[in-house]
Amino acid sequence: PIPGRELDGIHFAMDFLSQQNRRVTGEPLNNVTPILAGGKHVVVIGGGDTGSDCIGTSNRQGAASVTQIEIMPMPPEKENKALVWPNYPVKFRISSSQEEGVTRDFAVATIRFDGENGKVTGLQCARADEKFQPIPGTEFVLKADLVLLAMGFLGPVQEGLVQGAGVATDKRSNVMADTVKYQTSREKFFACGDMRRGQSLVVWAIREGRQCARSIDEWLMGKTDLPR
Ligand SMILES: Cc1cc2nc3c(=O)[nH]c(=O)nc-3n(C[C@H](O)[C@H](O)[C@H](O)COP(=O)(O)OP(=O)(O)OC[C@H]3O[C@@H](n4cnc5c(N)ncnc54)[C@H](O)[C@@H]3O)c2cc1C
Repeated sequence: PIPGRELDGIHFAMDFLSQQNRRVTGEPLNNVTPILAGGKHVVVIGGGDTGSDCIGTSNRQGAASVTQIEIMPMPPEKENKALVWPNYPVKFRISSSQEEGVTRDFAVATIRFDGENGKVTGLQCARADEKFQPIPGTEFVLKADLVLLAMGFLGPVQEGLVQGAGVATDKRSNVMADTVKYQTSREKFFACGDMRRGQSLVVWAIREGRQCARSIDEWLMGKTDLPR
């Protein structure tokens, strides 16, 4: 929520990516407004996998330029194994989409969007300090006709399934369940994958899905001491 957010040409990454999936598979777009990067200066805000997908898609659509900005500082070239083991090491990585062509910048905070006639024309940015706040005197402008917001996953949608089921959630709004039984606070409800651990990776979803299926099977067969 920064000034200029309402301008045309600023979109959530998922709106951009999901309609491109439909184009590729030949499915109807269902009356959504087309979001296309062809001939445009594209700025992707967010340096994760979703951001990478936006870069690859923008390049394939023929973007004039693609810039990716990340609020976190640039990670080190090499991981510090002693510091991070056994966790996944934090180090500078280049995704296959980034390899195809993008200008990347780190420790960048967006202050506001500029526009003309209701359409975005650029971003007012500044270097971000360790608290992600803009550092005065470091402001700069990025030209943009299309801005893709590839950050800010807030957790599973609460309205509907989660609230309807009445299952307990953690402080990040994920559904609470352990990684042995996957049973939630309600005995007939099990949770796994992104719903349980938050936005993550496919390999985790597969692992949790399989383990959860086993736990449910054992529960149905009366082979565990879980509440029934
Ligand atoms: C743009 C993007 C790029 C990503 N890139 C990568 C990557 O490069 N590598 C990687 O490892 N991970 C990546 N991820 C993360 C990865 O996609 C997820 O971690 C993974 O898909 C989680 O799997 P899941 O089965 O837990 O949840 P999901 O894949 O979200 O599946 C949940 C399913 O439940 C369905 N559903 C929702 N509500 C209901 C309901 N009420 N009733 C029935 N069904 C319902 C949904 O439609 C969906 O099909 C990316 C994610 C995004 C969004």
